[in-house]
Amino acid sequence: MNLGIVNPTVLEVYDEIPKDLLEHVEDVLFDKREDATERLLDFAETLKDHKKEDIAKVLEWRSEALQDRITHSLVKGIDAFIIEDVEEARLATNKPIDVIESHLMTGMNVVGDLFGSGKMFLPQVVKSARVMKKAVAYLQPFIEAEKDGKQEFAGKILLATVKGDVHDIGKNIVSVVLACNNYEIIDLGVMVPPEKIIAAAVREQVDIIGLSGLITPSLDEMVYLSKAMKKENLNIPLIIGGATTSKAHTSVKIAPNYDHTVVHINDASRAVTVVGNLLHKDHQTYKNQIRDEYDIFREQFLNRGKRKEYISIEAARKNKYQINWNTTEIVKPKQLGVQVIDDFDIRKLEVFIDWSPFFRSWDLHGKYPDILNDEIVGQQAQELFKDAQVLLKRVFDEHLLTAKAVFGLFPANTINDDDIEVSIKGCHAALDSASHEEDVISPRPDTIKFITLRQQLKKREGVSNHALADFIAPKTSGIQDYIGAFCVSTGFGTEALAQQFETDHDDYNSIMIKALADRLAEAFAEYLHKDVRTKHWSYAQHEDLTNDELIKENYKGIRPAPGYPACPDHLEKTTIWKLLNVEENIGVTLTENLAMWPAASVSGYYFGHPEAKYFGLGKITNDQLKDYAQRRHISETEAKKWLHPNLSET
Ligand code: SAH
Repeated sequence: MNLGIVNPTVLEVYDEIPKDLLEHVEDVLFDKREDATERLLDFAETLKDHKKEDIAKVLEWRSEALQDRITHSLVKGIDAFIIEDVEEARLATNKPIDVIESHLMTGMNVVGDLFGSGKMFLPQVVKSARVMKKAVAYLQPFIEAEKDGKQEFAGKILLATVKGDVHDIGKNIVSVVLACNNYEIIDLGVMVPPEKIIAAAVREQVDIIGLSGLITPSLDEMVYLSKAMKKENLNIPLIIGGATTSKAHTSVKIAPNYDHTVVHINDASRAVTVVGNLLHKDHQTYKNQIRDEYDIFREQFLNRGKRKEYISIEAARKNKYQINWNTTEIVKPKQLGVQVIDDFDIRKLEVFIDWSPFFRSWDLHGKYPDILNDEIVGQQAQELFKDAQVLLKRVFDEHLLTAKAVFGLFPANTINDDDIEVSIKGCHAALDSASHEEDVISPRPDTIKFITLRQQLKKREGVSNHALADFIAPKTSGIQDYIGAFCVSTGFGTEALAQQFETDHDDYNSIMIKALADRLAEAFAEYLHKDVRTKHWSYAQHEDLTNDELIKENYKGIRPAPGYPACPDHLEKTTIWKLLNVEENIGVTLTENLAMWPAASVSGYYFGHPEAKYFGLGKITNDQLKDYAQRRHISETEAKKWLHPNLSET
């Protein structure tokens, strides 16, 4: 009888029993492995304790009324019976569109209410959307054949990740959640230029534009777009979201440029509320309220900024972080130069994964593994985690993603306080022979220069004004120091997979694969950093840390990433790219705004000094901006563009 469980239509049972059963069944159904049947029989043996009555109980809902069954499938995210039920509904009505508008929308309203009241969590909603999409796709040909029905939406919303940015997990989640609430979504994808957004908004007569972005240059793209929208006299509310966006940036930099409503949102459930308010009959009251709220917020924010006191870059340099280089033991890396890891076995990365951010990307907050037993989100977290394991296993077994890395270790010294001169002599075949571009190469062709930025906020007595350059021995000390740089990616293959899932109306796994690829990329960065510390540079040969300790970064040395608080200048990535020949070596490219492509990539520097630590640059003043522009051989205007988020005076 145990094999009876393996009836592929009894999917609810699947949900109740381990995902590994699902995998065994799929192996048989899709003829994935030669020993599939045997494995399944073995596995069935282990399921003896699943009683017949349990299964019957789980399937009780199948004998309920049609609407209840459809609602059940939607709420539970079960797609096994939805076509059957939708077909029954279609046969009972004259117009196939009614099935969407009555049966399916009734079910989705329940989903919306449960989500809105915090009784249902994001991953479940995305699963519900998958069922809805399958049902709608099934009905579509019938609706088109009728020609007299068009789905009535609650509003039309354009979504886009802005120019130069490639990150879309958040946007895709918002898209799914809004679609669940019966909004029509025009999703323009990633790296969308402003002209395209405006043209589509006008052509499609959208009700709202939602902009998303993760890297800091995207903030400026959003500002630019709001100005362009104003020029075109568009009267379309803007919603802003993404990791580096904030209410402060939205209220200070975007809202004043646009005469219509601009709202910042930071999670998918709020997107539903905000969009609902913006399209409500009485939207004007809401819009006035938002405008007032943002005006007050802006004023408070700007006043707070004014109270901050900055010192000159010269004074800041005098107050740099002092390391006693005479007592520092500097370890020369075992192997200097660039090394490429072409096709890394990603299985090795599993143990290095930091799972907490994975749950965060699905709006489940808490630390892994505790989150699995959390009173509120625990069960949902467990389910999500199980689904992640299933996909991860597929990724491993079927080699769905490719991991590549390039890294290099070089002699280096700090010059003029804030620059790090990296010696590439004999370390870098490509750069040794190539003709060098002026911007990053100093007059001596066998060096390349990292440009660091220094904190200028006035500090308390005894507290330094940091720059990353402080962690490398100055040339004047006569001591030879070293620095490293790296880029890792596990994103090769992600796009194609996500596309496949989307074609299959499976947003859940399309989002899942991107979230997993991001996790693997971070795990790869962790893995490689450890390898560098213990082997290639080997200044921490005997390090013995658990993954938990690695996640806490309890090791010696740091790997700051350009674009992050200590080194917010994204242009540094172009230097890393030249130094390591990243594009040629592993194929990771930079967009015009210096986002890495594929998205699941991480790059940075390695600093080995035990006192090296992360800090936030904060704001800098015009004297450093000018000095920086000269050091980088770019105009002040261009320097302003790149350092915009960190300028105290604009
Ligand atoms: N375990 C985390 C690691 C990423 S966040 C994960 O899997 O997501 C920590 C990384 O962000 C650091 O290793 C560093 O590369 C970068 N980082 C954090 N704070 C930084 C700062 N202030 N300046 C520069 N880089 C920073």
